[in-house]
Order: sequence, then structure tokens, then C-alpha cells
Amino acid sequence: MIQRERIAENVYFFQSEFYAQVTAGAVIGPSWAVVIDTLAFPEETLQIRDYIEQELGVPIRFVVNTHSHADHSWGNCYFPGATVISHTLCKQYLDTTGRIALDEARKGNSAFRGIKIVLPQITFQEGQLILRIGKKTLTLFPLPGHTDDNLAVLVEEDRVLFAGDTVMPLPFIVDGNIDDTSVSLKKIAKMGLENVVQGHGDIILRGEIDNAIKDHLLYLSNIRKVVRKASKRKYPLEILDENTIEMSGKSRVLIGGLASELHRRNLRALYRQLYGIPPIPTDDDEEEYEEDDYDDEE
Ligand SMILES: [Zn+2]
Repeated sequence: MIQRERIAENVYFFQSEFYAQVTAGAVIGPSWAVVIDTLAFPEETLQIRDYIEQELGVPIRFVVNTHSHADHSWGNCYFPGATVISHTLCKQYLDTTGRIALDEARKGNSAFRGIKIVLPQITFQEGQLILRIGKKTLTLFPLPGHTDDNLAVLVEEDRVLFAGDTVMPLPFIVDGNIDDTSVSLKKIAKMGLENVVQGHGDIILRGEIDNAIKDHLLYLSNIRKVVRKASKRKYPLEILDENTIEMSGKSRVLIGGLASELHRRNLRALYRQLYGIPPIPTDDDEEEYEEDDYDDEE
């Protein structure tokens, strides 16, 4: 069963048991509900839908996609009566790389056979979009970092922020940008929040937010240093691969044990982003390096 928690009155949090502790949310109004992110595995998406529509007894009128990655948007097709809202780029990515990734995933896993990409019907890319639901105000705004199509949803009255993947237990910038991530994290720190719902992992409580953000900023500064050091060596990849996640100040158990792998990919991606070329491996590393080309779902 998907994990479920009530964060505030009529505000819910869901966390996947299947994949990387990915999260979703819901805000329930008197006559309809908003769902934030739709996950990738139909079984869990349907558990969320049934809880809201059958147990709470309200139809889902809007779905928000925080970004286009599979684990946040593929479940859109299970909300046929809802209008999907996203960043303009999210729609574009779903329509291109999303379709290709789904075709690939279907070959490997029968769970995805029933999924169809459903493109968002309402998109925006700057400023904010406000949804009034009962007595609550949801403010949607771009919060780039993990990707450039990341949207966040703030429940104004409860000061609960659904941050998408720009907040994760380990910042993950392979499809994104390290500077945008820093700017967005600093912005969150100043928002006076009760809770941050990250795209993966547990809810960050008010008393933990400052430390979590400091910790993330320190991690980003550490990986920047490692990449800079590597750039001065003949075989930069060696330096990157020697750097364990613990050396960069984070634990490997984060994100369902995926953290070491995400860290490794962060270093390689940051190198490419800063220097415009992949880090040069030694001869023996070459084979391993070439295999490092697969899709991102996180
Ligand atoms: Zn993501």
C-alpha cells in the first residue's frame, strides 16, 4: 500500500513503496480535489485516486505535474476527468522525451503497458497561477533546479510547500542546473514554511527546514569543489569516481539506497555542464564510462 499522511486539514501526502520514495499530494475542497503528481506505477496511482474519490468522496478536478519525469507524470492517464496543469516545458518534454522513455519502459516492464502520456492542458512558465479550493489558496510557481520545468505548489494558509524534485534528500541535478538549485533552495528558506514536501523522501518539518537547506547547499558546494579539482587532472573521471557520497557530506542510505548512484551521476553531469565535455577516463575506465547512458526517472 502507498503510504499516506495528513499534513494539515484537507492536505495529504503520499509516498511510494515501489520506487525511490517518490511522493504525491492532494488538497481536498468541499466539492473537488487537486492532486499533485501522479507517480509512474498504476497500482499506486489508483490507490491515491480511490482514496480521494471513493473514501473522501470528492472528484479530482485538477492534476498538477511538478515536472515531466516519469515518476511524477505518467499516472496522468488515470485522471481522465481532470485538467492537468504544468510548466510549459513539462508539456514539451512529455511530448518528446517522455513518449520515447515510455516506449522503452513498456518493453521492459508490463506494469507500464496501460499507461498513455497525457499532456497538460494548462501551462505557464513565469509568474504564478492561483487555484482557489474551498477556503484554501494554492499558488503554483516555477522552482527550477532539478529540472528547468519544475513547478512548486504552495498551500498558502497552511504554509505547506510541495517542492517537486528541486528538493530531494540528495539534490539531483543531472537534468538540471546547480545554480538554479541553489537559488531555489535559498528562496524556500525564506518562505516561512511549516512543511516542505520533497519530490522524494519524507516530509521536512518546520524545525528541520533550515538545516536541510544548509546541508543541501553544502553538498552542492562540495561537488563543485570536487569537479573543479578533477578538471585540473589528466584523467578527471578518476577523481570523480574516487569521491564517495560520504566525502561530499551525505549518506548512502538516502532515497531508498539510490543516493550513491545519484551522487556519481551528479559529479559526471556537473563536470559536463561546467566544462562542456565529459570527464576523460583512464583507458581502463573507458568501457564503464560508455555504459553510463540511460534515462533519468528520478
Ligand atoms: Zn525528477
